Amino acid sequence: MKFHSTNYKSKEVDFKTAILQGQALDHGLYMLNKIPKITEETLDSFKTMDFIEMALIIISKFIGDIISEEKLKKIVNAALNFKIPVEKIGNNDYLCYLDRGPTCSFKDFGARMLARIIEHFLEIENKHLIILTATSGDTGGAVAQAFYEMPRIKVVVLYPKDEISDLQRKQMTTLGKNVIAIGINGKFDDCQSLVKTAFADKELKKLSLSSANSINFGRLLPQTLYYFWSYSRIVERKGEEVLFSVPSGNFGNLTGGLIAEKMGLPVKKFISAVNENDEFPIFLRTGVYKKVEPSKKCLSNAMNVGHPSNLARIFDLYGGQIDESGNIYKMPNMEELRKDIISYSINDEVTKDTIVNFYEKQEKIIEPHGAVGWAALNIYRNNYPENTNLKSITFETAHPSKFPDEIISLIKITPELPLSLKMIRDKKEFPNPKEINNYQDFKNFLQKEFGN
Ligand SMILES: *Cc1c(COP(=O)(O)O)cnc(C)c1O
Repeated sequence: MKFHSTNYKSKEVDFKTAILQGQALDHGLYMLNKIPKITEETLDSFKTMDFIEMALIIISKFIGDIISEEKLKKIVNAALNFKIPVEKIGNNDYLCYLDRGPTCSFKDFGARMLARIIEHFLEIENKHLIILTATSGDTGGAVAQAFYEMPRIKVVVLYPKDEISDLQRKQMTTLGKNVIAIGINGKFDDCQSLVKTAFADKELKKLSLSSANSINFGRLLPQTLYYFWSYSRIVERKGEEVLFSVPSGNFGNLTGGLIAEKMGLPVKKFISAVNENDEFPIFLRTGVYKKVEPSKKCLSNAMNVGHPSNLARIFDLYGGQIDESGNIYKMPNMEELRKDIISYSINDEVTKDTIVNFYEKQEKIIEPHGAVGWAALNIYRNNYPENTNLKSITFETAHPSKFPDEIISLIKITPELPLSLKMIRDKKEFPNPKEINNYQDFKNFLQKEFGN
């Protein structure tokens, strides 16, 4: 299976190169030349399978025999070792919970799978890697937890000391072993700039620095799985079409769904639910693309993205081309795009109302990202009464206990921490390994720690 860059300026690569390189040299994203297909019979057989059995069939369609079946089974078992509940909410409406991984965010799917695939390829090539990453909060935790105890990988996470919550910090500082978390006296931008300077520093080339970039194709693979999974739990008829409501920020989740559909999953419509960063619904409606700059700060903070990077992959899937800066070289087939996707922007006020109403009606707590998805589904339901009989699946992408202040102020209830977060909360932290005040401090640290 070959991959091309969405900018079409660098050469095609195989799966292993796409994973180890992360991003194409021309700054495009790697995308499959051809989407593999799944037959209706195979799809039907998923109904009686467990998640791992199903996952192995789907993933092997992408990677063929690059990874042996036995090894792949180990990777998937270790990476996706948590539940994915699908719960009936209304008549035809279901919630699929993607928040049961160790950091209680759907990012666990992509990060944990990518970590193990990278480790596997490093083993084959007998190489080692240092992952440098800067975080404003959640991503650092997901990456640190995902790469924890990978023998060939070291992780260095920089976070702004005074700008993240205790729990967010503890997701990184309680691990030790191959994970080094450094609190910086500064802001996220300072962390980001230290990391970028290190990547560009010629004197550090021999350290094999890499970023666990969120645009790596290895993250998309596992994000196709829960579409097939949730579908197979709720449909009755062969070929039955469903709706998916997808809380969207960088559009990796939605891209996973679109790939699943091209593979053969019967989807009537994807509802792309965005917060006040509404560049995508406006583009779908008008055909004019304009980034939201600077991006707007909303309650669903993991979706505060004013120029989604995976838009390049979505354009590519529909015959268009857009670069990393948002310049369009070729329009996608808008008719096809509109047939498959509808997008609604949900403001913070509606998000809050949704959390309150959901609790009153269902006696269940939904968090801000899932609430954006649920609100968008309800707009769709009102606008298309002729589709009332279609079943819908909305993704809940984080656990409510990660947003205690909001939830408490809206419904006067303190959401209980799941076990995985409780364990992190109660663990001892490793002390900050180094006072870092400038780039030279950081460079000295890296050379002392990893140079030989
Ligand atoms: C990252 C994230 C999203 C958005 O997913 P994209 O793939 O970036 O569209 C939604 N919810 C949560 C909790 C997230 O962490």
